[in-house]
Amino acid sequence: MAKLQLIDLGRQYESIKHEVEEAVLRVLRGGRYILGPEVKSFEEEMASYCGVKHAIGVANGTDALIISLIAMGIGQGDEVITTPLTFYATAEAIAQTGARPVFVDIDPETYNIDTSQIEKAITPRTKAIMPVHLFGLPAEMDRINAIAKSEGIGVIEDACQAIGARHKGKRVGSLGDIACFSFFPTKNLSCFGDGGMVVTDNDELAVKVKMLRFHGSKDKVSFEMIGFNSRLDEVQAAVLRVKLKKIDEWNELRRQRSLLYKQLLEGLPVKWQQVPEGVESVYHLFIIQSEKRDELVGILNENGISAAAYYKIPLHLQEAFSYLGHKSGDFPVAVKLADEIFAVPLFPEITEEEVRMIAETIGSFIS
Ligand SMILES: *Cc1c(COP(=O)(O)O)cnc(C)c1O
Repeated sequence: MAKLQLIDLGRQYESIKHEVEEAVLRVLRGGRYILGPEVKSFEEEMASYCGVKHAIGVANGTDALIISLIAMGIGQGDEVITTPLTFYATAEAIAQTGARPVFVDIDPETYNIDTSQIEKAITPRTKAIMPVHLFGLPAEMDRINAIAKSEGIGVIEDACQAIGARHKGKRVGSLGDIACFSFFPTKNLSCFGDGGMVVTDNDELAVKVKMLRFHGSKDKVSFEMIGFNSRLDEVQAAVLRVKLKKIDEWNELRRQRSLLYKQLLEGLPVKWQQVPEGVESVYHLFIIQSEKRDELVGILNENGISAAAYYKIPLHLQEAFSYLGHKSGDFPVAVKLADEIFAVPLFPEITEEEVRMIAETIGSFIS
């Protein structure tokens, strides 16, 4: 029996094959490959989807973060507050600008940054907070924005895992000063390679981001800043336009399958990421928490079900950040979760039967 994958991209491809292939051929035959009509249309569609004025396509989610930070004026000597439990690129982007990532521990229920601990991490050098909407669940943005406002600092959303998620009715991407998306193949909205986007309501930031993605130039003749060559290409944009039309339907299916997981796992000695009142997750991953994580991952894999520990090493303990001088006792909640959480298969096309089979395999091992 073929192994049930964490994310089966082949099933999604089957369901949109004709539209996607037609879109790709349209670009190949059209002769415009970089910053042409597909990117422009996709940018307009994404801005409107997120409820902001501007969307700017870039090469990947990591570049989206780096470019957003630089557009916000962040660099050498500055500090940016973020979570130690996220994909490495979040903090790497901060360090790439010359700024220092300052970690704040996470909430044990939502796995997102613990907003009650942000204020004590703020110093005169703090320029921004970069919350991550982890596994598709929006961070506590009203509290984060209130702190940022009273301190006069910026808010950059790392929304790479959370396209379409809502916080108090507003979509991620519209909740801070600027926000970043990734279209890496395993994300909820994905392309056939790398892709990313910066969205913002702020006209000045949008101008800077546009310049930064093209070598710091507005007109390709005069160069005002040291920038990047970081663009979303036409083929990927054409694919993303097809998929953006389906994203709400796909996110709804993820939600339904996740609710089924919760229903089936109820009563077992496991936990999962809690969704607070007023917030809608898009369930980028279905994450289970157990003290027997490693055994469970092993049992699932032996039974033909992919399962994987996520963020096994929190960022403050990564070798690349040893210069920050953290100890393993720092951020105890993040350290505990790094030992206990894992993802089980979840994607819009997974069937109810498959979810039942996975939940039963977990149940028979731990009960
Ligand atoms: C995927 C991801 C990124 C980086 O996106 P890429 O497109 O792979 O560069 C950054 N932050 C988070 C939280 C992510 O999940």
